[in-house]
Amino acid sequence: MADIVEHFRKGTFEQQYWLPAHNKRRESSLFRKNKEFIRDECGVPCWVCGSKKDREVHHVFEWSFWNAVHPEKVTNILKAIEFYDDDYVNRANKPRKLRDRIKEIEKSKPVINTPDDVRNLVVFCRKHHRLKLTGIHTITFPIWLAISAVPARGGILTRKQILMAAERVRKIDEELASLAENNYEPYRT
Ligand SMILES: [Zn+2]
Repeated sequence: MADIVEHFRKGTFEQQYWLPAHNKRRESSLFRKNKEFIRDECGVPCWVCGSKKDREVHHVFEWSFWNAVHPEKVTNILKAIEFYDDDYVNRANKPRKLRDRIKEIEKSKPVINTPDDVRNLVVFCRKHHRLKLTGIHTITFPIWLAISAVPARGGILTRKQILMAAERVRKIDEELASLAENNYEPYRT
């Protein structure tokens, strides 16, 4: 099985999608409250890499699609993915506080009826949220899902090595773009 890591591949894709009619987006007070709760009060790390730097809060089901989705289906899908499993919750600064809140919401609101519900929010660092080639918004779900299942230790490649490889390609791309614009500055010192 020595040849299982065959190559690092790069590709582009286009996507086309609709958006249901929705109100102009503004940050709701519930989102602000839940964002502060999970990220700042409970101190949960980036779900992908475990970093506690530059953390942003991501809606798993996007706010803009909410008017078109079925709340029970959303609830079932989020339960199946189980972002807040023991492995993740235990890496928070205050795991018990987070676990208790989720249990409490599950009891009082079995069906998720707003995109700003804690169960639809997850923390990613900036790199794994929106940056090119590494963020959940910039790679396809199959790739993201596979990365998420790579073990932190003991795999053919660790998750850290795979993430590092994608990040290097992103940095090389940035260098090439700045070279093309004649303001090249090497990032390696
Ligand atoms: Zn990260």
